[in-house]
Order: sequence, then C-alpha cells, then structure tokens
Amino acid sequence: MKNFDVVVLGGGTAGEAVAKNLVEAGKSVALVEKLRVGGECAYISCMPSKAMLRSAQARTLAKKLLALGAATKNPDLGDAFQAFEIAARRRDEIASYRNDTDTASEIIKSGVALFRGDGVFTGINSLSVNGESLTWIDLVIATGSEATIPDIPGLSSIDYWRSDQAISTPNAPKSIAIVGGGPVACELAQIFSRFGAKTTIIEFGDQLAGKEHPDVALRLAANLREEGITIFLNTEVTKAELTAEKSSRLTLSNGQVLMCDRVIIAAGRHPQTSGLNLGLIGIELGEKGEILIDGDCRVLGTKNIWAAGDVTAIAPFTHTANYQARIIVENILGGSRKANYSAIPRAIYTDPPVTSVGNFSDSEKNTKILTSKIELSDVSRNSTDSENGGLLILAANLATGVLAGASAIGPHADEWMAEATLAIRAEIPLAVLEDVVHAFPTFGEAFEIPLRELARQHRLFNSESKKASSKMTQCEHEFLLDELTKEVKCIKCGDLDDEMQLPNHALEIEEEKDEFYKTQVSFE
Ligand SMILES: Cc1cc2nc3c(=O)[nH]c(=O)nc-3n(C[C@H](O)[C@H](O)[C@H](O)COP(=O)(O)OP(=O)(O)OC[C@H]3O[C@@H](n4cnc5c(N)ncnc54)[C@H](O)[C@@H]3O)c2cc1C
Repeated sequence: MKNFDVVVLGGGTAGEAVAKNLVEAGKSVALVEKLRVGGECAYISCMPSKAMLRSAQARTLAKKLLALGAATKNPDLGDAFQAFEIAARRRDEIASYRNDTDTASEIIKSGVALFRGDGVFTGINSLSVNGESLTWIDLVIATGSEATIPDIPGLSSIDYWRSDQAISTPNAPKSIAIVGGGPVACELAQIFSRFGAKTTIIEFGDQLAGKEHPDVALRLAANLREEGITIFLNTEVTKAELTAEKSSRLTLSNGQVLMCDRVIIAAGRHPQTSGLNLGLIGIELGEKGEILIDGDCRVLGTKNIWAAGDVTAIAPFTHTANYQARIIVENILGGSRKANYSAIPRAIYTDPPVTSVGNFSDSEKNTKILTSKIELSDVSRNSTDSENGGLLILAANLATGVLAGASAIGPHADEWMAEATLAIRAEIPLAVLEDVVHAFPTFGEAFEIPLRELARQHRLFNSESKKASSKMTQCEHEFLLDELTKEVKCIKCGDLDDEMQLPNHALEIEEEKDEFYKTQVSFE
C-alpha cells in the first residue's frame, strides 16, 4: 500500500497538468497512466490533425499562387498521395512519433510518482495498478473519452479506422467514407480530400457540426462540397460489408451503395468511465456516462474527489481540460475557485475554420437574444487577401446589454474570435464593444457593424421596456437631473425624461441645458 496526498487517474492533458502543479506546490503525487503520458492531444488528436491540416492548407494555397500574383505559373506539386506521405512524416515529428518517453521522464523528474498501467478502484480509498495499491487524501479522475462506435450491422467485418488511426496513417487511401459529420469528421475529410482521396461524409443529422449555428454549418458544407467532398445529410449507414477485393461496401438509408478503400468512424465520443469500479468510491454517473462535478470541479456528493477534462463531458477540449486542471489545483491547495464555462471557445480547424463561443439560445429565464450578421466579403481584408468570404454572427442578450454568443466561418476566425471570447467572459457592455477600434484592414473589423447594430437594439429595448414598466406601475414621475450622467431621471422609477435628454455629442448645448435643469431642479 502506497499513500499519497493526491492520486491522479489518467495522465492526459488534465491529469498531467494537475500532477505537475501539485507536486511543484509540495504535495506527494501519484499519476496513473495506461497508455501515453500527455494523453491524446499531443500524439493522436489535436496536434497531429492540425499538423496535417496545415500541410493540406499549404498545398491548396500553392495552387493559387498565380491568381495571387506570386508566381508566373502555379507550381507542380507532384503526386498528392506521395505528398501525403511527406506530410505524415512532418506530422509524426510534431506528434513525437506517438512516443511519450520525454514527457514521462520530465514528469518523473518533476517529482511525480508515475505508475504505468490500467487503474481500477478496489475500495473506498484504494486504487490498484499493476499489482500496486495506492491510497489518497485527494483523488483526481481525468480518464478522458473514447470514440463511440455506432451499431452498424456488419461493421466488425470491415477494417475501419477510428480518428486516432486515421491521424496516424503513413499513407492515404484512395477513397474514404467517413461516418459522422462532426468537427473531427470535417477536419479528416479536408485532410484526405486535399491529398487526393475521393471522400464522402455520411451524417445522420440535418447539418454538419450539429452544435454550430445552422447558417455557419451550411457554409461549411458548401465549402467542403466545393472542394469535391460528397456529403450525405439525414443519412445512416444500414449495412457494412467487405467485398472480395477487400474494399468496404456501405449501404445507406437513402438507398445508395458506397464503395471505398477505408471507412473512418467519427461518430462522436463518450467519457471513459466504464470498468473503473466507480461505484466502489461512491460515484454515480450522468446520462452520457460522465462524472458529474460542481463549480469547484469536485465530484458531486464527495468531499475529496475531483474530475477534469473529457470525462466530465463539459466542453470536451484540451483548453477546458487545462482550465479545470487549474481550478482543481487551486482548490486542493485550499482555494475556493469556481469554473465559469460561459465563454469556452470551440473550433473546427478546416480551411477556412469554423469557430464559436457562448450561447445563441434564449433558454435562460428573462433573456431575449437578438442576432446580427455580417458577410466577411464586406470586410476589406477579404479583398486584399483574395479570400472567399465567410460569415460572422453575433448574439446579444438584450436585457443585460452584453454579448451572449458568436459564431463564424472565415479566414483566421479561430484567432480573431478571441475578441468575442473575452467580451462574453468579461461581460463587457455592448456600449463599450461598439466603441472598440480595429486596425484596418483586419478581419477583426467584421465585429464593428454587427456590434453597433446590437448596441442600438439594446438601447431601443431599454427605452421600450422602461416605458412599459412605468406604464404598468403608473409612476407619478418626479424628474431630476443626475449630475453624474447628465440624464434627467425619475427619482422614483429611474425612467428617463424623453423630452429633456441631452444630446451627448454637443457640448455647447449641454452647457446651456445644464443651466436650464438647475433652474428646474431649484423649483422642485
Ligand atoms: C481527432 C481529434 C482532434 C481533436 N482536436 C482538438 C483540438 O484541435 N483542440 C482541442 O481543444 N481539442 C481537440 N480534441 C479534443 C482533445 O483531444 C480532448 O479534449 C483532450 O485530449 C482531453 O483531455 P483529457 O485530459 O480529458 O483526456 P486525455 O488527454 O485523453 O487523457 C486521458 C488519459 O487517461 C488515460 N486513462 C484512461 N483510463 C485509464 C485507466 N483506467 N488507468 C490509467 N489511465 C487511464 C488514457 O490513457 C489517457 O492518456 C480533439 C479530439 C480528437 C479525437
């Protein structure tokens, strides 16, 4: 039996960050990892997929050199499938050849006790890993998520790939069918298609990227179709078969039959919680098999058990895993920090990318959400860069006058959306946001027109609702000048006197009226 201040189960993004920071703060920490220290992101998800997307994007850009006036003719880019092999070698270097030796030795050097193996709970305060038994004062569960494999008749007879295999392949198949139309499917489709593979997406729902704004999802589908990717929406795979030539044959619910060299399953993910014996430590799971946590990232109904990352099913991204890890570290060290998920961004790193943050629905009580849009073709930077435009949609909470959500597809949207992330997280008033100046010509300028529109709508909404409420209460107004804001307000209900407001841009008139109001006030 080995006793630790903290035992961390799962050494991915969240687990590694918790372990490193707590050991630095002087705690004794055990980290239990069954596969790779560092988890998925560095080796088999975010990093290798983004590396391949970058190569695919550069290849497409190179085909536009003549149009961009950068060459007298477009360069010969060679065979697409051979180029894929070179891109895959670059990817593997970035993904450390899926080898965690360096990361593992770093974590051991930092003082963390690393236990390699499958961790399973054996009692209320014990975890078994490779025959060792570990106990804790605090326990952190960060076991991540795994691919969901749909129940398709015959699927087990074909040699399909999950996303980790698709992202690790040294060469591209000639033809691919991707089951699922979420972010991972869209990214994989663009990678393989841009390197020459005949690519088809089969999506069960009525749009790609089901969580995204429908208008943005529509553009994403149009962009991918324009590149030659076939997309079936509202379609299921009803049967999978292996042919005599070792191809896969998929029968679709729309009656079509699809032949391809490889099927990729990218139909979503679920928390990795099965087989851990979580019941032994008193943890009940949510509907998706997720570990339920409170704002402190403490597991519901427990005192000293915490969870972070995909296993919580809250915004399952690397940045959320890191964020929750920071919260847990602070709270284990005696703090009382609460997570705020109001502005966790998400991105699909296709070219151009899709990115969103916040909320577009008015499901919360007392909110009225209004949206405003702009075509990126109306932004000057789109012309200088000869880009294909895109869309930015903003949503504001009219009652509170703050930005509620933002969604975009367009060049570098993954970067410039940081402005909306900050605005939503910090609840910056629309009145301030509409006053922000962006450098010309940048894509950031896209925010200006829709923000002004939303700010205007908010002012209208405010004045309408004040009128309505004063009618309802039938306030017998007593107007007075507010010296600070120079507004004439009712001292009982705060309603503005419409006829006596000062134009905020004309100083001279303002001074004149000041005198007038002083007189009025002295009469009262
Ligand atoms: C193809 C793809 C692309 C993605 N791209 C992005 C992106 O660009 N940006 C982004 O933010 N997110 C991206 N994600 C999501 C991102 O990978 C995850 O959100 C992130 O890795 C979650 O971190 P985590 O710590 O929760 O889990 P992980 O990093 O998966 O770590 C969990 C660890 O727990 C270990 N483990 C599980 N059970 C046990 C056990 N019983 N005993 C011991 N060890 C155990 C696992 O081996 C694993 O190492 C992508 C995901 C996929 C699939």
